[in-house]
Amino acid sequence: MKILIVEDQQRLGLFLKQGMSEHTYTVSWVGTCSSARDALCETSYDAIVLDLGLPDGDGLDLLREWRKAGFNEPVLILSARDTVEDRIKGLDLGADDYLPKPFSLEELLARVRSLLRRHSTTKETVLEHRGIKLDLLGHTVHVNGKSIDLTSREFALLEIFMHNIGRILPRTLIAEKIWDAHYDVDTNLLDVYMSKLRGKFDTIPDQPLFKTFRGVGYQLL
Ligand code: CA
Repeated sequence: MKILIVEDQQRLGLFLKQGMSEHTYTVSWVGTCSSARDALCETSYDAIVLDLGLPDGDGLDLLREWRKAGFNEPVLILSARDTVEDRIKGLDLGADDYLPKPFSLEELLARVRSLLRRHSTTKETVLEHRGIKLDLLGHTVHVNGKSIDLTSREFALLEIFMHNIGRILPRTLIAEKIWDAHYDVDTNLLDVYMSKLRGKFDTIPDQPLFKTFRGVGYQLL
């Protein structure tokens, strides 16, 4: 599940990014209205966490723009403005939820889960393939009914493959999704993760789970 965080406060942004990544979300974090606009034009997200006081504008204007343009990603406003009027304004403009600052990370995570659940009618949240069952909301993985322990990175990696069964995924594409765009694909970090992931699914008989295309990418068989 991909989350966009729009938050200009460095410490809070970093905290949110880390906290949500640890819960297996793939998180992009931006700090301005203009970079939020770019991020949403480049790719789609499963949910957006939106701060209102941003250095180059107001999050409410961003929200208004997005809804007008037809972006229907669920938006949770995270703001220090917490009067009833502020909340009504945000919700009327198309926000799906409103959490006042300061907040607890646990509550934010619970609200994001609830947003994702409500918006998941058209989107599959449990992916299944060759006995693997990946539950995107519950953050669990089972192989033939047996629970498998994955780190958040491994989970995100597997999720990309489960959305693209049989497709050869280029190394750059995988790296961009997992490590943002700045990851140097010459390093062997991706191969390390792939070998760890393979190791955790070595109980699956018959053909191997992943095929390596040397220098090109990987395919979930
Ligand atoms: Ca702010």
